[in-house]
Amino acid sequence: MRSLIIIGSGPAGLTAAIYAARAQLKPLVIEGMEPGGQLMLTTVIENWPGYPAGIDGTKLMADMKEQAARFGTEFKPKEVTGVSLLTKPFSITVEGEKLETGCVIIATGASAQLIGLESEKKLMGRGVSVCATCDGFFFRKKEVLVIGGGDTALEEAIFLSNLAATVTVVHRRDQLRASKIMQQQAFSIKNIEFLWDSVIEDIHDAAKGTVTGALIRNVKTGEVHFKNADGIFMAIGHKPNTSLFKGQVEMDEKGYIITRNGTATSIPGVFAAGDVTDPVYKQAVTSAGRGCMAALDAERYMQGL
Ligand code: NAP
Repeated sequence: MRSLIIIGSGPAGLTAAIYAARAQLKPLVIEGMEPGGQLMLTTVIENWPGYPAGIDGTKLMADMKEQAARFGTEFKPKEVTGVSLLTKPFSITVEGEKLETGCVIIATGASAQLIGLESEKKLMGRGVSVCATCDGFFFRKKEVLVIGGGDTALEEAIFLSNLAATVTVVHRRDQLRASKIMQQQAFSIKNIEFLWDSVIEDIHDAAKGTVTGALIRNVKTGEVHFKNADGIFMAIGHKPNTSLFKGQVEMDEKGYIITRNGTATSIPGVFAAGDVTDPVYKQAVTSAGRGCMAALDAERYMQGL
């Protein structure tokens, strides 16, 4: 039986692991489908404190993992396929292997949200993408659309503007949600255009198995037009990765895990940290902070405090 299992290996999970390992709790981290979490999908991170010139996301996560390992954290590069948290000891199934533990930290993060079109699903990986840094290379000198008006959308657009011929940001309102500094940067780049008050009705061409463009509707005028595009990047936000815990751990209406008194969930001995609990801040540094708190809370729980 394990004393502590941490599910997830983004900034929350790995910071929890560093603290828990240093407290001799012998944590096991189940890394999940996207080891390192969402920072693995970004390029340079400029707001992680301590790096005035920024740091590469993959490097930051590799360093965090090394740091956690140095203090004795064990890792399983696998996915959790089931959990049983309503009876003790808790049981965590990892691709067929059943593990038992007295304490769990959930740090499964959040994933990119999709619009929900059938054509979007069919063309995912065939011109539709949720990650410019992963797929931007395929669209050198091509026409791409970025859907959304938040920081993610502009970050993707700015990144793509160095590769693609043109980048058109399609946003459903006439004002961006993104931070002012990101807006200024995007507005100053010549090959980034904006289609305001616009939503995607359909993506062509599922029959051909590749993206040729999209039907775009102006939500104010109702007018629909076809826009040529070779690639479409969805950047409309994220949803928490909590389907494993439904019916066991208390969540809000959007599926974020509710925490009280620090990182405690509705189940004593189960703690949660990072984007899986956070519909508001969603920053790597806030996730890391909550990961630290979860490890300290877990330690106190194990001591019976
Ligand atoms: P977000 O801030 O929630 O923005 C999502 C955007 O997508 C919004 O503009 C929203 O439109 C639009 N949208 C949502 N659902 C849609 C739909 N069904 N159809 C069309 N458009 C839709 O999400 P995010 O951009 O992923 O950012 C999440 C958090 O991470 C934020 O706190 C952000 O500051 C942070 N972040 C920071 C950085 C950085 O600092 N470098 C980079 C990326 C993200 P409305 O505006 O109309 O709601």
